[in-house]
Amino acid sequence: MGRRWGLLVGVLGAVWLLGSGQGGRQPAESAAQRCFCQVSGYLDDCTCDVETIDRFNNYRLFPRLQNLLESDYFRYYKVNLKRPCPFWNDISQCGRRDCAVKPCQSDEVPDGIKSVSYKYSEEANSLIEECEQAERLGAVDESLSEETQKAVLQWTKHDDSSDNFCEADDIQSPDAEYVDLLLNPERYTGYKGPDAWKIWNVIYEENCFKPQTIKRPLNPLASGQGKSEENTFYSWLEGLCVEKRAFYRLISGLHASINVHLSARYLLQDTWLEKKWGHNVTEFQQRFDGILTKGEGPRRLKNLYFLYLIELRALSKVVPFFERPDFQLFTGNKIQDAENKMLLLEILHEIKSFPLHFDENSFFAGDKKEANKLKEDFRLHFRNISRIMDCVGCLKCRLWGKLQTQGLGTALKILFSEKLIANMPESGPSYEFHLTRQEIVSLFNAFGRISTSVKELENFRKLLQNIH
Ligand code: FAD
Repeated sequence: MGRRWGLLVGVLGAVWLLGSGQGGRQPAESAAQRCFCQVSGYLDDCTCDVETIDRFNNYRLFPRLQNLLESDYFRYYKVNLKRPCPFWNDISQCGRRDCAVKPCQSDEVPDGIKSVSYKYSEEANSLIEECEQAERLGAVDESLSEETQKAVLQWTKHDDSSDNFCEADDIQSPDAEYVDLLLNPERYTGYKGPDAWKIWNVIYEENCFKPQTIKRPLNPLASGQGKSEENTFYSWLEGLCVEKRAFYRLISGLHASINVHLSARYLLQDTWLEKKWGHNVTEFQQRFDGILTKGEGPRRLKNLYFLYLIELRALSKVVPFFERPDFQLFTGNKIQDAENKMLLLEILHEIKSFPLHFDENSFFAGDKKEANKLKEDFRLHFRNISRIMDCVGCLKCRLWGKLQTQGLGTALKILFSEKLIANMPESGPSYEFHLTRQEIVSLFNAFGRISTSVKELENFRKLLQNIH
């Protein structure tokens, strides 16, 4: 009896404490409601709602996307994890075992993937080489039609494109290595505290169009914050133009997604015999419970859905590029490559059928000169964020941080590329618009991460239903 009474008092006390955290008496909500009740309905700046995304992602897209990402083409990602941090030099490698990245031995990666310039089919590649050589010699092979000559010369130039939102990783550097993403999964690493905060802080404070005078709510590197900072921050955000607000929400969505993953693949048990990874509900609540985070957690989860919609729209827009007959997911295994292309197109057509796509036409509209300036600012800020990834002290976090910013940068390039806007979709695939293998691998893997986060939210919702 005594123990039961103690437990009851404990539970009542906890409910009261949580209720009083928001400054008043609150009806006792379940743990699931506290994380998710505000994560429902319509998303700001969009015509889409959370429930439609959940249904679409969890049952129609997620399983097939996971299959695709397990294929050789998508699992090997070339990355330079040794690039120096361009912003400060006191970066300490955290040295934790779970931060280590195991690169591939050279014989593990299929030759087709390693052959440097494979972007398209074998025929297309040899054309590129011919044209590059002809160009160097000051002549173009006359046996090619004029149209093909023009197109092929364009292909060779695309990597310098001013459409890029990311600083390209120097994958030709001897320091760049292939990493098998399946063997180095994104999960809890223990990277935390001031080093991790510094990275997030620089990202938000210096790159999200935010004036110094406006404080981010709950910033661990700022002292003595209260309700008024929160109000100032959100009225500042609401007063921004839609593009700058979107920028903040994309970064916050990415941050939320990373934190969902580390809560879903948390190190639960670490003995010399085995390591056990799984859902850590307490970790999730600390980051996303509406009361424990003073309302911030649910807002962050909504930003994650916003990011999902942006990447989904980019994928739907770039379908004609992948439909080109000369496009292959080339690894050298003809049968497998053809099957993978079929699966890729199936996924892309499913994505195209999504009924409530984000409308990117509301971005960079209005006065052309001003819109172009804003777009350029947007691009430069995002490029800066991709460079900050070289300052992340945990290599595993750096790997996934680089991949996901490159993937999001590729999505933005697709959404706002003039070449794509001018040529797709009505007039068919444009040969002026290109994506490198790096961009393709990062685009799909980054979207795979957000898709996994949305699926994990369903898992956490179920786990939290059993807790009060
Ligand atoms: P942090 O997540 O460090 O956040 C700092 C502050 O930012 C918070 O106090 C809060 O005020 C605010 N904030 C938090 N979330 C949001 C949001 N979504 N939107 C807006 N503001 C927010 N750890 C791993 O275990 N595995 C990984 O793979 C991993 N990858 C990382 C990749 C990068 C690029 C970085 C910078 C960090 C990564 N980390 C990873 C660390 C992880 O993101 C956290 O920094 C760490 O767990 C400490 O969390 P925290 O609760 O102290 O707050």
